[in-house]
This record gives sequence, C-alpha cells and structure tokens, in this order.
Amino acid sequence: MRKRLRTIFLHTVGSIKRAKPGIHIINSHYVSAKEVNEEYNYRTFDAYLKDLNTYASFINLEEATSNILQNNLPKKKVLITFTFDDGFEECYTIIAPLLEKYNCRGAFFINANYINSDKSYQQGFNERVAITTKKPMTWIQVIDLHERGHLIGSHNLDHSNFANLSIAEIDFQLKKNKEILEEKLNYKCEYFAWTYGQLQHFPLEALKLTEKYHKYIFSGTNYRNYFSYSGRVLNRRHLESNWPKSHLKYFLSFKKKH
Ligand SMILES: [Zn+2]
Repeated sequence: MRKRLRTIFLHTVGSIKRAKPGIHIINSHYVSAKEVNEEYNYRTFDAYLKDLNTYASFINLEEATSNILQNNLPKKKVLITFTFDDGFEECYTIIAPLLEKYNCRGAFFINANYINSDKSYQQGFNERVAITTKKPMTWIQVIDLHERGHLIGSHNLDHSNFANLSIAEIDFQLKKNKEILEEKLNYKCEYFAWTYGQLQHFPLEALKLTEKYHKYIFSGTNYRNYFSYSGRVLNRRHLESNWPKSHLKYFLSFKKKH
C-alpha cells in the first residue's frame, strides 16, 4: 500500500515538476533489473536518453566533478552526468554505445573480482547486489570502454559492505581493487563510489582510508545536497532508466544546495 501511494505521489507530482538547473549526478546499474531481450533494453535506454535530452545536456563525470568542486554551477541549464555501478555486461553492450550517440561518456564503477569471474563467484556477487541473472563485463570490454573515453572507477574488490568489515579488510578491498584496475588499464584510478551508497555503509574511518587511495569519492545518498561529509563526498541520485519519466523529473526537481 505504501509503495502504491508513493508511486501515485511521484507520478502526480512528477508530471508537473521541472528539472532544476544545476549538475545532477545520476547513479544507475543497468537498463532493466530483470533479464529481458537486448532489443527491449536498447529501446528503453535510447528512449530514456532522448527524453532527458529534451530538457538537459549531458556532460562527463570529470567535468561535473570539477565544476561542482569549484562551485561553477549553471544558473539556467540542467546538466546531467551518468554513472553506473557493479559492471554488468549491458554497460558495454547497450549503455556505452547509446551514451556515445549523444557524444557523451559514462563513468563505470567496477568491482575487479566480478569481471571475468566464474559462475559460483557471480552467484554470490549477484546475491550481494540483489540481482538474479546478470553477467559481468569482461576485461576486454572494460579496457575497451576506457580506451573509448569512458571513466572507470573503483567500487571495491568484491562489492563488500564496508560497515561490516575491519579496517584491515576495508584497506585490502580498496587497495587491491585500485591495483588491479591500474594494472589492467594503465592509468591512475582517482574515482571511487562506495557500495550500497548510504552513509551507514561508509563510516568515517572508511572515508579516511578511502581518501588515501582516491581523490574523488561518491555516495548514493543525500542528493538534495551536492556534498556529504563536509565537502569530502559528492552525492549521486539513484535512478534507473526504466523508471517512469514522471519519477525521474521529480527526483531532478530539487534545487540542490552547495
Ligand atoms: Zn554496487
């Protein structure tokens, strides 16, 4: 019942809301949670970008980050940047090519142990992220995304929840994932998004440790503010491309505080 009321509220209010000028960092994972055919996914993600593009311009995460940090925010324009967590295969097959159609690049936050993993590892991973049938990208695909100008960030090694780990375990998850990504892609991994995204999944000790390894840190919470942890974390809004248009508009309709 509560869920239904929420849906009605979002639909009614969202239909009359307008996206607010500013920079919106969107956090998604896939096109559809369930496995559907590729053509359906392609059409869904294409329609999503087309709709957003009627009222927003798309920018890359590097540009979004530097402008937010310098408080260089547009007064009239709605700017959107796209980030995707967990590294599912459709990031490569559907999402990246369609972003490129709009001359835009995405940011993909990857768990290195999931890439090229075997079936039993994938089963555990998918349980941790509450997904049933997804497959990861391969290293060849991740490297290709990087070479095409998409940003590859770290999402920790195994998609573990930092709230449940010791400091030594958190350190290992951060350090090892960064090492593997840097070795495979031959770059410096400066962007990190923590798993599960809420503040309770990222205690202050975890933040301090993460800052040793990564320059830019992203949450999945508090999207009405640009920052959490006094400017040390940039906030993203969780949205999936197959959600109703009115819901997307509602979530983008808040004037964000710097
Ligand atoms: Zn995740």
